[in-house]
Amino acid sequence: MPAIKTEHLSYVYSPGTPFEKTAVDDVNVEIESGEFVGVIGHTGSGKSTLIQHFNGLLEPTAGKVYIDGEDLWADKSRLRDFRFKVGLVFQYPEYQLFEDTVYKDISFGPRNMGMSEEEIHKSVMDAAAFVGLKEKHMEKSPFELSGGQKRRVAIAGVIAMNPKVLILDEPTAGLDPKGRDRILGQIREYHQQVGNTVLLVSHSMEDIARYSKKVLVMNQSRLFMYADVAEVFEHADQIAAMGLSVPQITRIFHRLSAEGYPVRRNIYDMQRA
Ligand code: ADP
Repeated sequence: MPAIKTEHLSYVYSPGTPFEKTAVDDVNVEIESGEFVGVIGHTGSGKSTLIQHFNGLLEPTAGKVYIDGEDLWADKSRLRDFRFKVGLVFQYPEYQLFEDTVYKDISFGPRNMGMSEEEIHKSVMDAAAFVGLKEKHMEKSPFELSGGQKRRVAIAGVIAMNPKVLILDEPTAGLDPKGRDRILGQIREYHQQVGNTVLLVSHSMEDIARYSKKVLVMNQSRLFMYADVAEVFEHADQIAAMGLSVPQITRIFHRLSAEGYPVRRNIYDMQRA
C-alpha cells in the first residue's frame, strides 16, 4: 500500500479573486512506503503547496489525498493523527524554535502527543543523536547555537515524533556546503535506520541525484514526472528546458554513467543543440 497517494489533486489559492492561482493541478501520484523521494521543480512550480497537502495543512480544492490508504479528509477529527504521522520540516525551520532550551524544544512535539516522560526522553535523545546534537547542547538555549545547529534542532523536533513520513522543504537552504552535506548525510542515515518514507524538496539536482531513489518533478503546477533517478535524468533535456542548468545536469549524467546507471542519451548532443 502506498504511504501517500493523491487522486486528481488540485489546489487553487484565492479562488474567485483577481489573485486566483492554481498551484497544484490534477496531480496523481503514489509514493511507496519506505521510499526516499527527491522533489524538484522551479520556484513557483507547486512543490510547497503539494507537500502541505500530505499532512493536511492544506485541504484540496479538488481530489483526494490518502495516507496509508486512508482518506486524509474523510474525518476531520482525525487530522491531528495525520499531522503526527506525516512530519513536515518547513523552510528555515529555525524560525520556529521558541523554547528556552534545546531539550524543551525537541520535546515539544512528543509532549503534545501525550507520550510518557520516559518515552519523551528516549525520543528526544534518539532524535538529537540522529542530527548529531550532543548531550552538552541539550540545556543550551537554541538561540546560542550556530545556524546549522539550530536547523538540526528543528529537524530533531520533527523526528522525535517518530513520523511514518518525514517531509523536508529545502532543509539545506542558506547553509554552507559542509553544513549541507552534514544534514543530508544525517537524513540519509536516519532513513536507512528507521526505514520510513522521506520526501526531500531541493533546488539542487546534484543533492537529489546523490540522496534519493525516486524523483518527483513538478512543472507549472503539474506533476511532470515521478520515476527512478536514472530515468528522470534520461529526460534531462526536458528538465533543462524547464530552466535547470546544463553544466549541473552534465555532471550528474557523468556520475550516473560512472556508477553504471543505464543512461543512454548523450548529454553532449544536448549541449550542442
Ligand atoms: P514552490 O514550492 O515550487 O516554489 P509554491 O507551491 O510555493 O511553489 O507556489 C506555487 C504557486 O502558488 C506560485 O505561483 C505561488 O506564487 C503561488 N502561491 C504560493 N503560496 C500562495 C499563497 N499563499 N497565496 C497565493 N498564491 C500562492
